[in-house]
Amino acid sequence: MKLSHAIRLGATLKPQGFGTLESAYQTCAIGAAIDALGGYRRATAADIWRLGMSSSDGRVSLPLRVGDPFFEIPEEWLGVLGKKLTCPQCSQVEGILEYLIPHMNDEHRWTREQIADWVEEIEPQEQGTPTPEEEHVEEFVS
Ligand SMILES: [Zn+2]
Repeated sequence: MKLSHAIRLGATLKPQGFGTLESAYQTCAIGAAIDALGGYRRATAADIWRLGMSSSDGRVSLPLRVGDPFFEIPEEWLGVLGKKLTCPQCSQVEGILEYLIPHMNDEHRWTREQIADWVEEIEPQEQGTPTPEEEHVEEFVS
């Protein structure tokens, strides 16, 4: 599932929250996307072994212990979340999409549907082969 689709779907599950990734009652845009894929779950020893083998790709926060809540970022979201952008509203903030989504949600109070529309413009198109730029996740340097 595309990130923009997951944000839209998750937005139908809970009201929008601000300044918090996810709570029992509210989600921000990223939290909504996580919710759409089933939310956080508790790590098992098998998860840790498997993720430990590929910990360098940034899909989960490590270290992870048995019982820790975690969410495995889908591979198709990684390239999009790693794109460097400038805030489309204030043009004052630059960063990767992963940091700009909370900025749009919390600072500019965009609805999650607005954020999903914006993310959709950034996402690679369905057809055609990805360009090298789309395949490469750029490192964020502050
Ligand atoms: Zn801004």
